[in-house]
Amino acid sequence: MTRLTPLLGRNEQFARDYTPVALSMPTAQMVVVTCLDHRIDPAAVLGLRPGDAPVIRNAGGRITPSVINDLAYLAFLAEAVFGMTGPLFEVAILHHTQCGTGFLADPEFLQRAAQSTGLGEPVLRASEVAEPDRTVREDVERLLASPLLSPKVSVSGHVYAIETGRVTTVVDAQGPAAG
Ligand SMILES: [Zn+2]
Repeated sequence: MTRLTPLLGRNEQFARDYTPVALSMPTAQMVVVTCLDHRIDPAAVLGLRPGDAPVIRNAGGRITPSVINDLAYLAFLAEAVFGMTGPLFEVAILHHTQCGTGFLADPEFLQRAAQSTGLGEPVLRASEVAEPDRTVREDVERLLASPLLSPKVSVSGHVYAIETGRVTTVVDAQGPAAG
């Protein structure tokens, strides 16, 4: 028994009208990086359909080494498997208001979290999104500065307001060379 069991009924509904999508370049030529928050459905927020865009999610939607690794592989795939030449895709980093990682901005909470989880404070701090306008700018810069980022990938930064459902662009798309 798993808690997934009742959800398998929903999957049955889903599979009834399902049409598989062949593996190919994301039709939106985008990769979205956003928070794992269960109130956010990137497909619904951005009207994404299957095949449109990969979505990478972690706590905060932060640019971590693991996210950078995934992006490097996706860029490689785009060229090696899908034969893309020229610009490959844009990475849209989407942070949000009311993020659960915002508590980590409080030093006492950060210390408690570090002690309880065994994670280092710097690791936890790297997930913090207390001011999404600021952190999304930092992450655009961090990604653009990575030597692992393909020069054919551009990066933009956006904030999703949980209160209104609206996405606001904070940083327009820019490439590593221009950035
Ligand atoms: Zn969040």
